Amino acid sequence: MMHERTIKGKRVTVLGAARSGWAVTKFLVRAGARVMLSDSGPIDHATMVWCEEHGVIVETNGHTKATLSADFLVVSPGVPSTASPVRRALTLGIPVYSELEIASWYAKGQVVAITGTNGKTTTTSLIGHMMKTANRQVIVAGNVGTPLSDHLKELRRDTVVVLEVSSFQLDHIDTFCPSVSVVLNITPDHLDRYGGSFERYAESKLRIYENQSAGDVVVYNYDDTLVRERVEHFVTTSEVRGLPFSRQVHLSNGASAVEGMIRLQERTLLRTEELGIPGPHNVGNSLAAALAGQAVGLSDEVLRESLRGFAGVDHRLEIVRRVEGVTYVNDSKATNVNSLWYALHSFKAPIVLLVGGRDKGNDYEILKPLITSKVQALIAFGESAPKVMKELGPCSKHAMTVETLDEAAQAARDCAKAGDVVLLSPACASFDLFSNYEERGMRFKSIVESF
Ligand code: ADP
Repeated sequence: MMHERTIKGKRVTVLGAARSGWAVTKFLVRAGARVMLSDSGPIDHATMVWCEEHGVIVETNGHTKATLSADFLVVSPGVPSTASPVRRALTLGIPVYSELEIASWYAKGQVVAITGTNGKTTTTSLIGHMMKTANRQVIVAGNVGTPLSDHLKELRRDTVVVLEVSSFQLDHIDTFCPSVSVVLNITPDHLDRYGGSFERYAESKLRIYENQSAGDVVVYNYDDTLVRERVEHFVTTSEVRGLPFSRQVHLSNGASAVEGMIRLQERTLLRTEELGIPGPHNVGNSLAAALAGQAVGLSDEVLRESLRGFAGVDHRLEIVRRVEGVTYVNDSKATNVNSLWYALHSFKAPIVLLVGGRDKGNDYEILKPLITSKVQALIAFGESAPKVMKELGPCSKHAMTVETLDEAAQAARDCAKAGDVVLLSPACASFDLFSNYEERGMRFKSIVESF
């Protein structure tokens, strides 16, 4: 393990000046390193000024050979492992770390780290909510908000650090070791960054527990065959304790949701319908969070109260408002077909569905029977509206195409009846009409507020 005294005076190149690259640059400077910050694009003026004042060498619009004159590199999640400075450094035997790895060298307190293809932000926020309910000193960091490097000064020995961790951060760890790791699920995503290989992507996510040892815990999804096989092999060959969760079978050594009851080992915590967040996927997320909470010593009472009271995260099946008996739901973060599939399973009431945006090569086949059984009106909007209409329009009783989100929301209002759910769950990226999914969700919320 590398210590602060070895960072002091070391030459470090940070690749990528976005959020975590910038956070780790500031941290390394304070720790006494000689830092170079290199980005393949431009760097904003304020950052340039700060770097000049603090003796940081800056490189913009491309990486030169100078990036390799370093004792180690720190690579931002946005920089692929195939980028030439990363490949060359590894060939030359220069260590390459992620921001998470560096920050973890200095992180005091107990780390709970969450990874998976879907549900990371929700589960991370729920565990953070549990810690607050228990009046524990807690920091929620990583992908979900600010990088861990930005929080190091606030951490105390009794802090619980709840970290959302992406596979890109895990690609370049060395000694990172959470005391509780959570593996939610692994399904194909981001394969462009892993040479098209699902195995390599899965491998990267599963590194979350590779440094754990006796006394540590790994919470894992028993219903995900790949995750179960890999984690169970690991726990039988190490002293790490495995805590499984399942929505299908009762598990006396973990958490389960069967017959409408959320159970921790043999104890019943609450009824599934009492969970604060809707949908089958959120049952899984809640089970994972309960096990992580239990592993850091939270009582059943705290777990029960926080599972009931958690209102979810903005833009993820977020209930905006009820108007004239109609419930408006913002699921703008649903940027793929899989997320929309779960959203449709989350409501019993008839759905007026808003779908569309920038298409990512979507295959709508698995949605067709669900549209027929659950959706009473389909409103396709944005760039992909014609494709959505062609694929899904015939499955719905009523279907129409509009151009903008504003028109879509208005049309939904016009055709929804008391008792219906109006659901924005676009299954597409937002970049046709907005800068990101947050902006799309905010726009939807403000239209609904004006009704
Ligand atoms: P992440 O941080 O991993 O992207 P989020 O909690 O932000 O996950 O949820 C993103 C989208 O994925 C949401 O719209 C939700 O519908 C869906 N989702 C959340 N949890 C799960 C899960 N466990 N399995 C499948 N889909 C999920």
